[in-house]
Amino acid sequence: MKAYIIISIIIFCLFGGSIGYFISDSQNVDFAELSPEAMFEQITTQRAFAIEKAVERGDYRCCISPACTMCYTEANQWNNWTAGTCACDDLIVQGKEPCPQCKKGIGDEASCGGATTTEQEESCEVNLDSE
Ligand SMILES: [Zn+2]
Repeated sequence: MKAYIIISIIIFCLFGGSIGYFISDSQNVDFAELSPEAMFEQITTQRAFAIEKAVERGDYRCCISPACTMCYTEANQWNNWTAGTCACDDLIVQGKEPCPQCKKGIGDEASCGGATTTEQEESCEVNLDSE
């Protein structure tokens, strides 16, 4: 009787272990093994998440929702030559032009109406007033 219990415990451990291995393996697919399409998908998703975090920290002061991506991926005149940040809100307040993506976004009132947080709604109001 004892032997059965021990054997079933061993089988359970082996079985459970292999399931755990399978799950962790499928979650950690090697990036290099992905298709170019899947790579693009993953990078885009992660970039959106990273921008959200930068917005939360106050480094990404973008006026549109969803936020522009060009200020995140490149150093340009609209983010004071620091990629990963956006200063379009500041520029608008100063009466200067934001990045082309933001400019396009502001032109479309729907994107301002779609702002999710009060803060974004306020910046959109500022943007529209200064237009
Ligand atoms: Zn921008």
